[in-house]
Amino acid sequence: MHGPTYATTELLARLVAFDTTSHKSNIAIQRFIEDYLAQHGVASTLIFTDDGEKANLFATIGPRDKAGVALSGHTDVVPVTGQSWDTDPFQMVQKDGRLYGRGTADMKGFLACVLAAVPDFKRRDLKTPIHIAFSYDEEIGCVGVRPMIAELGETLPRPRMVFVGEPTSMSVVDAHKGPVRWHITVSGRAAHSSMAPLGVNAIHYAGLVIEELMRIEAELKATTHNERFDPPYATLQITEISGGTASNIVPITCRVGFEIRATPGLDIDAVEKRLVQYVNETCLPRMHAVAPEASIDIQLSNRVPRSASNGTRRWSVLQ
Ligand SMILES: [Zn+2]
Repeated sequence: MHGPTYATTELLARLVAFDTTSHKSNIAIQRFIEDYLAQHGVASTLIFTDDGEKANLFATIGPRDKAGVALSGHTDVVPVTGQSWDTDPFQMVQKDGRLYGRGTADMKGFLACVLAAVPDFKRRDLKTPIHIAFSYDEEIGCVGVRPMIAELGETLPRPRMVFVGEPTSMSVVDAHKGPVRWHITVSGRAAHSSMAPLGVNAIHYAGLVIEELMRIEAELKATTHNERFDPPYATLQITEISGGTASNIVPITCRVGFEIRATPGLDIDAVEKRLVQYVNETCLPRMHAVAPEASIDIQLSNRVPRSASNGTRRWSVLQ
């Protein structure tokens, strides 16, 4: 099957013309891409949101029974509201050897390169498949791609590796730290502060937990040195704290949030186990001596996988 061949810039102009600002639908651009791929004999799978307003697109070129290489990008762009443009942001123009238009670089440029290469991919007798994985809602927190990732290894093949053509600093980023976040709830026993020994002060015990976390922070700094990152070690920060009822009440609860930005290889489970052990051995026996119902609950609230290949570049993820 031989569909039309477009130059990359021509394809890019077509893609830019779809206003896919994150809060808008991306169905029209995905249908355009689906049609384009179909013309080249490549079937797409669209994974829709519940309201049908947005979709991820996944397609495979080459053998379907093997794990391949995925080329991935997002279809959405950031808003143009309040920005002063000399030209229509959704009408690509070429000026002084540059292409202007919303998303020409981030990242419809990559999508256009991938799509323009499809006829060439088709001509080759690929031993390893190439997967195309185009997402939505990247610009608002990388959230749109998650339903597609959930299908990999289930209804869709799981790629061996993924190239994301995001133009971050226009350089290869092949490692990032993994933010891991927890919330701790310390529950003590309230009492009037004039009768303090009858209570269990949740803030005091949260303070002990914070001290332990700061010891862990120092150890992480000393033991996770990795020049590929800036700063070149895993960090731990107490990020939130709240608690207390009134200035004359022994506080019954205190909530503490903390996060670790993990370097590759850091055993997060071991860190969490150490904290749990400290709580069980040092805090809870003293709390229970006064109030058997006292507790310290440690909840993992968010975990982003860290990642690193064998390269040498430095990178820190901001999220
Ligand atoms: Zn981007």
